[in-house]
Amino acid sequence: MSLDAEFERLSLPLENAFTISRSTQETSENVVVRIADDDGNVGVGAAAPSDHYGETAATVEAVLPELLDVVESVGDPHQLDRIERRMEATVARNPAARCAVSIALHDLAAKRADLPLYRYWGLDPDESVPTSYTIGIDTTERMAEKTETAVERGYSVLKIKVGTDRDEEIISAVREAAPDATVRVDANEAWSPREAVRKIDRLAEYDLEFVEQPVSADDPEGLKFVRDRSALPIAADESCVTLADIPRIAGKVDIANLKLMKCGGLREAKRMIHAARAHGLEVMLGCMVETNAAISAAAHLAPLLDYADLDGSLLLAEDPYEGVAMPDGEIDLAGLDRPGTGARTK
Ligand SMILES: [Mg+2]
Repeated sequence: MSLDAEFERLSLPLENAFTISRSTQETSENVVVRIADDDGNVGVGAAAPSDHYGETAATVEAVLPELLDVVESVGDPHQLDRIERRMEATVARNPAARCAVSIALHDLAAKRADLPLYRYWGLDPDESVPTSYTIGIDTTERMAEKTETAVERGYSVLKIKVGTDRDEEIISAVREAAPDATVRVDANEAWSPREAVRKIDRLAEYDLEFVEQPVSADDPEGLKFVRDRSALPIAADESCVTLADIPRIAGKVDIANLKLMKCGGLREAKRMIHAARAHGLEVMLGCMVETNAAISAAAHLAPLLDYADLDGSLLLAEDPYEGVAMPDGEIDLAGLDRPGTGARTK
């Protein structure tokens, strides 16, 4: 068998500018990877690099030739462990770049088995959890309008970005616009520990599900300080990057929020999920704003999760790829009628 790999950059405008406490994004730069076998199967994956974690489309494009040389030299998409080990030896960091290759290989391996990826893994589609839909920071009025639109589109779980000087006003307006929705909030490290305790005490009155990354990723003791005093569960996102972070956040938060683009691929994500459970943490899988060429793979992990935040493609103005359907936010693995991750061009 031989494998032939190539990559291509995709510049994807967002439906709305996406603002969080530390930054605004209007376009998502993704790099799509395709790996073909000599039976005519093609696996597709994508990198959605985040400069917060030191990656850009340019760094992905810089290391992909070396990573794809590894893939072609091993030449067998079922040798996932061997390829992963050699990729890590070649490029130790650059998790989004390695993730694109991981996704494309899993897509190809499952296509060769003629099974959707979740069935290749033996996972139960009935255990899938719904995805949240994220509302970025904007004027309070616009956030309320976007909330109404999200509810009209059928989303019952909303994630609201906070970390402003009007967080309570925002959450009050969101709650008014979506009285029945499950609402979680994400401060993206914006608060000091004491400020977080004060804010969460006020926000908890609006019946929230949990609070994501209230304080700096550099302050694990701050996370514990908040969690010990918080009326709401606390999730770690920026504090939870790779497998080694799981024991570091255990006992300090309630929920580990993993992302494929942070940890470097589907196998590392599964290791993190099991490690998190062993450490008494609940598990959430998030994403960047990204194409279905990547998100569709993440969706196959939904049966292993307590919470999903896989709306990355939903936030794009247009995604050239379709993937696992998410009607009303329900991740419909059982309805997937094709092998692999289900990612394909529209
Ligand atoms: Mg987050």
